[in-house]
Amino acid sequence: MANLSIGEGFIFTLLRLRNYVEPMGLLNDVASRGASGAKKIVGSRGSKPPRYSAAGLIAKGLRGESWPRVWRDVPLRSAYDVIIVGGGVHGLATAYYLATNHGITNVAVLDKAYLGSGGSGRNTAIVRSNYLTPEGVAFYDRSLALYNSMTDDLNINVMFSERGHLTLAHSDSALRTMHWRAEVNKLQNIDSSVIDPQQVKEIVPSLNVSSDAHHPIAGALYHPPGGIIRHDAVVWGYARGADHHGVEMHQKTEVLDIVCTGGEGPDGKGRGGKVTGVRTNRGDVSAPIVVNCTAGWATLISDMAGVRLPITTQPLQAAVTEPVKVFLPAVVVSGSLHVYVSQTDRGELVFGAAVDPFTNYNVRGSLDFTEGLAGHILELMPGVSKMRLLRQWAGLCDMTPDYSPVMGFTPVDGFLCDVGWGTYGFKAGPVAGEQMAECIATQRTPKLIEAFKLGRFEAGRLVGEKGAAAVGH
Ligand SMILES: Cc1cc2nc3c(=O)[nH]c(=O)nc-3n(C[C@H](O)[C@H](O)[C@H](O)COP(=O)(O)OP(=O)(O)OC[C@H]3O[C@@H](n4cnc5c(N)ncnc54)[C@H](O)[C@@H]3O)c2cc1C
Repeated sequence: MANLSIGEGFIFTLLRLRNYVEPMGLLNDVASRGASGAKKIVGSRGSKPPRYSAAGLIAKGLRGESWPRVWRDVPLRSAYDVIIVGGGVHGLATAYYLATNHGITNVAVLDKAYLGSGGSGRNTAIVRSNYLTPEGVAFYDRSLALYNSMTDDLNINVMFSERGHLTLAHSDSALRTMHWRAEVNKLQNIDSSVIDPQQVKEIVPSLNVSSDAHHPIAGALYHPPGGIIRHDAVVWGYARGADHHGVEMHQKTEVLDIVCTGGEGPDGKGRGGKVTGVRTNRGDVSAPIVVNCTAGWATLISDMAGVRLPITTQPLQAAVTEPVKVFLPAVVVSGSLHVYVSQTDRGELVFGAAVDPFTNYNVRGSLDFTEGLAGHILELMPGVSKMRLLRQWAGLCDMTPDYSPVMGFTPVDGFLCDVGWGTYGFKAGPVAGEQMAECIATQRTPKLIEAFKLGRFEAGRLVGEKGAAAVGH
């Protein structure tokens, strides 16, 4: 159900009433609640959580009922088969695919705050697969495929809008990188090509393509399958789906330490060690497998297991304007000016830039960012000079030296990582979850993530994606 605006999504839902699936959903919902009101597990491989529908909304309104909880609130138990630290899109997708693809449901997702409170609820929701390395292209392309079927898979409208993605080049060298990317993309059947300034103008009439501009546009990499998605719907969709299959989500549950045995470091941590569980602010929980899905906090968690990661944490800021009539049909990115912009279905312009140039755990916005952003955006689109910024915010990004993630096993047995997502990890959530679940279930590294193993830094086999990922999105 790609390409739907909010209004279209609503109409689509109404059309689906012909099939009138919601009564089944309501029945499921009632049947799945015991006398205490706590939901019993109804999930099994292949089944889906009930669909939301307009009829259900009206029926509940008339009966004065509120919606049931999206996921259960259950007591934290003392042992699980798998503990996932971090309730963002990566942790939740991993839990969801563990349950749906592999039948592993004795899983707890622990988050120190609330689900989606990290980068997953703060990003600008751009998805694309036009990366620079063959490994990156194959990986992100699989994610885009999962995003395309997500509304049906999770039974929740994630509002994927496949509106096209333009990366502008302002110099000959930038244009060379665009050609390079286009060739790598085409070899892997990705719809991606270099277009000239006039074609750019045809796609986005509001862009200033004049040769008198301070940084004239020399051309662009055009990637029609790219677009934007509703990030909170994705997070809630995965949480709801995982819950349906019996996975537990525990919010306000902070991991304070990772318990290991047999390792060469202090307290049995480090190389050669084995994970036995975690220590949390709500007590100790044992598990033979602990997965680090904490993005901006990744090194703090891996340090707890005695595993050093080549990651620095840097804030990334974004901002949004008041809503105006829709005029921006594609996502526009300028690597040279370090800005990007898209327009939401509601009409707001969403802006982003590159990470702040220092390590920090602060998520406050800065005036510096707004000034730089406004200057560059006005160079590209002088027509938006009267628009007002409504708000700005920041999130934490876990930056690796080669702009590619760190995924899979570590020198500590049972401790796995799905981190290093920098400024580009939201689009990777589905495929990362799918591949990490396979890694855990089979205890083997799937081919699609082989290149992203932690060992590549020792072996000197970096997967350089800076040319396609230096601007956050
Ligand atoms: C402003 C901004 C714009 C972005 N734009 C894009 C974009 O357009 N496209 C794109 O693909 N990516 C984008 N990103 C990057 C993307 O948001 C992240 O890479 C992605 O969301 C990471 O997801 P995650 O699930 O790995 O981590 P997160 O969503 O950050 O979740 C990590 C979770 O771990 C929890 N946690 C941390 N420490 C502990 C602990 N000790 N115990 C328990 N829980 C803990 C946190 O509370 C948090 O909820 C952007 C990021 C930002 C900040």
